[in-house]
Amino acid sequence: MTQIAEPKAGRGSARTTGEPGRISHWIGGRIAPGESGRSGPIYNPATGATTHLVDFASADEVDRAVAAAAEAFPAWRATSLARRSEILFRIRQLVDEHRRDLAALLTAQHGKVTSDALGEVARGIENIEFACGVPNLLKGGFSEQVSTGVDVFSIRQPLGVAAGITPFNFPAMVPMWMFANAIACGNTFVLKPSEKDPGASMLIAKLLQQAGLPDGVFNVVHGDKVAVDAILAHPTIQAVSFVGSTPIARYIYETGTKAGKRVQALGGAKNHMIVLPDADIGMAADAAVSAAYGSAGERCMAISALVAVGSVADPLIAAIRERLPKIKVGDGSDPASEMGPLVTREHRDKVASYLDSGVAQGAKVLVDGRRDPVASGDGFFLGVSLIDDVTPEMDCYRDEIFGPVLTVVRVATYDEALKLINDNPYGNGTAIFTRDGGAARQFQFDVNAGMVGVNVPIPVPVAYYSFGGWKASLFGDLHMYGPDGIQFYTRTKVVTERWPDPASSKVDLGFPRTR
Ligand code: NAD
Repeated sequence: MTQIAEPKAGRGSARTTGEPGRISHWIGGRIAPGESGRSGPIYNPATGATTHLVDFASADEVDRAVAAAAEAFPAWRATSLARRSEILFRIRQLVDEHRRDLAALLTAQHGKVTSDALGEVARGIENIEFACGVPNLLKGGFSEQVSTGVDVFSIRQPLGVAAGITPFNFPAMVPMWMFANAIACGNTFVLKPSEKDPGASMLIAKLLQQAGLPDGVFNVVHGDKVAVDAILAHPTIQAVSFVGSTPIARYIYETGTKAGKRVQALGGAKNHMIVLPDADIGMAADAAVSAAYGSAGERCMAISALVAVGSVADPLIAAIRERLPKIKVGDGSDPASEMGPLVTREHRDKVASYLDSGVAQGAKVLVDGRRDPVASGDGFFLGVSLIDDVTPEMDCYRDEIFGPVLTVVRVATYDEALKLINDNPYGNGTAIFTRDGGAARQFQFDVNAGMVGVNVPIPVPVAYYSFGGWKASLFGDLHMYGPDGIQFYTRTKVVTERWPDPASSKVDLGFPRTR
């Protein structure tokens, strides 16, 4: 496998004893050991062991990465579209060849099971495939003869140095949402991955270099708020893409735009799945269980509120309960595991706390994941949990739990279900399960959310659409990846030109006319 860190680099999963390895920055095409004296631990969530320490960048180190990106920009933006596309095809090929290595890193540092990790890499690769089409995506418009002998055309040009700040839950895919389009459009890039699981970003950096991407076009700095604040304040950085929790997304948007940057900041979520009385109960139960507990509920598109309309509640809950004991929770590297641990002990304990607060506030815990024997070991495990009779005032409904806890809200009518979703401060994804096409169409028309599934519980758009929520789930104007990504990472220039016979030239102080 490609080495990801120096010294004592190694795959996190293999490093469960001995001294932790070290993960350093990637600046100008080489590993740059951290000099700030600050670092953070990386755990193998399945064992609880500290496998690595990751260097935390100072403002000076961020500045060095930005300087490397700024130096690489003029040559990279001048590189032909054909060449950029060729490199992206090679990146696609290398990431594909290393998909198992990437997945192993995700499992070792995030905890997700191998099949889920491979799925993450596959959805990330789709974004690289989209970016391979950059010659077509950057086509401008052309209008001939807008006035006598005058033509007008528009072109899309890169912004310069762009930065990406990413969350722990998709350490490979979310960076690919950003850098693929950013570099395809001719920008250079500085990535600040989550400090909880930064290993995948280092392997990606190596693969990009092997694919022929010039040094400095893609850089990685690790760290916490210090590194993020240095990015937001850096005058050379033109654009910031962020994915993470809502309070930080709001902060990034406000701080970045105040500093004159273009910012897209995707935040947290509370995704509702409505089940109408006519839905197929078995199919809806399968979907709810898959979408609530897949990746241990640590997906921004996970279903965390199941809205049962009318008579569907009892049979639906019974069907879900029937399925829960069969879910195999265990070490993500065990092929038999369907759900892994949570990312850290603190996060596991916070998720578990919603079971107590739910009961205290009047909900009914039907399945308690703390009782699962897997929850008593050293790993950060919590079994699956199901809470019924949840109401909108309860903490387990108001907060994004981000763990394997499904809450059930019972409502009498479709209108009540719709109001619940539209009143919620978040608006990322939502889904409706029904056999009534008219009801589904009405829902898609009525609902205030950015991504809607009809009998699809996790409606993550394919790479040639764009991903983004509404309300407190996104700050900014453009969604991420797909066509919006191309818009975000470019600015348009409109050229008006004519080639008159100098003999006909004269002074004319009038306003330019087209007819
Ligand atoms: P987070 O907000 O804690 O961290 C995200 C990034 O921000 C990390 O790189 C982190 O280092 C940095 N950060 C954290 N605290 C900071 C601070 N005080 N100042 C500056 N930077 C800071 O999010 P997370 O826990 O890593 O990820 C989970 C969250 O991300 C969930 O809320 C989830 O819904 C959200 N998410 C949203 C989407 C989406 O597309 N909308 C996708 C994935 C995850």
